[in-house]
Amino acid sequence: MKVMGIESSCDETGVGIVEWNDDGTTTLLADEVASSVDEQARYGGVVPEVASRAHLEAIVPTMRRAREAAGVDRPDAIAVTIGPGLAGALLVGVAAAKAYVAAWDVPLYAVNHLGGHVAVDTLEHGPMTPCVALLVSGGHTHLLHVDELSKPIRELGTTVDDAAGEAFDKVARLLGLGYPGGPVIDRLARDGDPHAIEFPRGMTGPRDAPYDFSFSGLKTAVARYVESCERAGRQVPVADVAASFQEAVADVLTRKAMRAIDETGVDTLVLGGGATANSRIRSLAQERCDAAGVTLRVPKPRLCTDNGVMIATYGAHLIAGGAQPSDLTVSTDPGLPVTVGVK
Ligand code: ATP
Ligand code: MG
Ligand code: FE
Repeated sequence: MKVMGIESSCDETGVGIVEWNDDGTTTLLADEVASSVDEQARYGGVVPEVASRAHLEAIVPTMRRAREAAGVDRPDAIAVTIGPGLAGALLVGVAAAKAYVAAWDVPLYAVNHLGGHVAVDTLEHGPMTPCVALLVSGGHTHLLHVDELSKPIRELGTTVDDAAGEAFDKVARLLGLGYPGGPVIDRLARDGDPHAIEFPRGMTGPRDAPYDFSFSGLKTAVARYVESCERAGRQVPVADVAASFQEAVADVLTRKAMRAIDETGVDTLVLGGGATANSRIRSLAQERCDAAGVTLRVPKPRLCTDNGVMIATYGAHLIAGGAQPSDLTVSTDPGLPVTVGVK
């Protein structure tokens, strides 16, 4: 079974094609992505209208490239991201999926973007076992409990304010480092001392929700620190600020993930989302997993950011698990909860 996946929830237009193997794995046949990140950089963040227009321009050529790369004229099914994401951006992918489904007379599966971030890891590391998944990107910060990919995924916690990647972007902006902020902060942090400044670890008090996150207080603390330097006429120690900020984010994310591993009794942690490219999030997750005897699974960076392959892979798992095709009247759902795998 060949499944095509279409992704347009944020600023990447992705079309992927995978072949489902009956042993619970998938083989990648095509992975085409067009990103509007350079265009978004002019505005210092993702502008929904800019993203929607870019999707509209990119969807047909990306679709053509994917079919050519895979040598597939007509897949057996189409999976498309129905949510969560930006309303106008989602609409482009879903409209395209419906058009191709009608033209080719194949079933449509309207799937959840977040499940895709977890499922994509099976391409490189084999069938998924029960796990905790930590998803961190510009738009999401989620701690999930996954029993089987074809069954409803449980949300353990999420951010109450900014997403982790968004915090990197906002801190980079206040340090005057441009957009996207994650890669620059990661690079500068290498020359800084992660313990130079004790930035707060949000929502880690005894009365706080154990699996929720908050990064806006951390961002404010960085802003206050920078202001205090400026008031005192001191130069801002940018590398130390970057390293200490990054350490605070990585510490909270991995600490809560390990606690979730402990309380759910699973033995695997899966990372996903563009911010897991961060070197400290990766190394701290690895250290803490090693210490606890837990297996860490991290897809390669290209598959961590948004793409169509993750949607094709998740769709394939849901189809193999017996999911019914979606109705062609299905509409986009910007706030779709992770428990709904296919709508
Ligand atoms: P979504 O939230 O829908 O998954 P997105 O476009 O917001 O999509 P991605 O494209 O997956 O997110 O990732 C981009 C985010 O990841 C940006 O916020 C960026 O700053 C952050 N990021 C990328 N590389 C790094 C890094 N090395 N360290 C920290 N953050 C990073
Ligand atoms: Mg993106
Ligand atoms: Fe995503």
